[in-house]
Amino acid sequence: MKYDYLIVGSGLFGAVFARRAMDAGKTCLVLEKRAHTGGNVHCDDMEGVTVHTYGAHIFHTNDQRVWDFLNGYCDVHPFINSPIADYHGERYNLPFNMNTFHQMWGITEPEDAKAIIEKQRRAITGEPQNLEEQAISLVGTDIYEKLIRHYTEKQWGRPCTELPSFIIKRLPVRFTYDNNYFNDRYQGIPTGGYNGFIDALLKGADVRLNTDFNSDRACYRSLADRVIYTGTIDSFFDYCLGRLEYRSLRFETELLPIPSYQGTAVINYTDGDTPYTRIIEHKFFEDQGQHKTVITKEYPVAPGEGREPYYPINDERNLTLYAQYRQLADKETDVIFGGRLAEYKYYDMDQVIASALNCAEEIL
Ligand code: FAD
Ligand code: UDP
Repeated sequence: MKYDYLIVGSGLFGAVFARRAMDAGKTCLVLEKRAHTGGNVHCDDMEGVTVHTYGAHIFHTNDQRVWDFLNGYCDVHPFINSPIADYHGERYNLPFNMNTFHQMWGITEPEDAKAIIEKQRRAITGEPQNLEEQAISLVGTDIYEKLIRHYTEKQWGRPCTELPSFIIKRLPVRFTYDNNYFNDRYQGIPTGGYNGFIDALLKGADVRLNTDFNSDRACYRSLADRVIYTGTIDSFFDYCLGRLEYRSLRFETELLPIPSYQGTAVINYTDGDTPYTRIIEHKFFEDQGQHKTVITKEYPVAPGEGREPYYPINDERNLTLYAQYRQLADKETDVIFGGRLAEYKYYDMDQVIASALNCAEEIL
């Protein structure tokens, strides 16, 4: 049988597109090179604790259509992300807000915080040119040094002066006592994790796990009229123009025979000596009162052969190279490139869903 769509990758983009395509009466074959579906939102169960296998995934959005879509396929448990930063044992609330400013400087009034930041940011004149300048301009030098600089350099493996400023603009800065990490109207996590959501999206599709499309492109392409490709764009073209860089991660997960390890879901280690960036304690995403707990340490690692690509590095070299691959992609009339890896964008989950819904609307 020939399928209408061959979908490469069963992450959010592939799964959302598959759902829409099947609802429009199309047939779909999904290829997934990992041993499970869901891409980076996949979860595991460890003795009753739902574990976010690829790091904390907290859903947040302002997009009503995306929120309704999510809620149409799963029950969403309310959760507000309010991580803690640990700097050599000093504890600070995130994102940067009056609690952080009070902990850093002992002040209590918004005007006092603004005055300190104003004084510390004087060194930056004109439009910030990189992440360091952007960070100092937003929150001053003390917070930059203790809560941003080393965390960012660990995460991205390069100096803050060589990183684009938009990365730090993801974080809110507030002169109120509000520890909500996101500004969005809606926030939560599917009850029991994301697997049920993904299963509902893929229901009715044929799925082949442990199957790499790039291992035999011609054969797989012959199975369908059109391809939705959500892998890395450079691998589709056999890296013919060179390799795009993606930061990778290593996750170290432990089951501990204690009720709680750190008392909260996420603690960021913002010093330069601790090799990991954060520790997640999964049970706090949806506390069901288990007697044991599961923690994951997240270690940033450089890109390389055999390592999973997680974060596109949107610097000038990579963006120029991506634009060249994009030109090749535009010539592939039967292939649509979508998602974080194929579009080389630092997308959040809601943006990936929106992008897949738009794509489906356009072509189905
Ligand atoms: P992916 O999830 O990467 O899916 C792509 C799939 O394609 C993968 O399963 C891959 O195995 C498969 N694939 C690739 N190449 C091939 C091939 N050649 N053949 C077959 N299969 C292939 N977003 C939020 O909104 N909130 C968060 O809190 C959040 N936290 C995050 C934490 C971490 C550590 C990371 C890395 C990301 C986080 N994100 C978060 C972002 C979120 O994970 C992504 O936006 C989303 O999962 C991307 O979906 P996708 O379908 O584009 O890509
Ligand atoms: N960041 C930081 N200190 C923190 C948390 C974040 O400096 O404690 C910076 C860092 O540069 C990071 C960026 O803010 O890359 C975006 O953080 P976010 O939590 O949005 O990153 P993600 O969850 O995508 O890894």
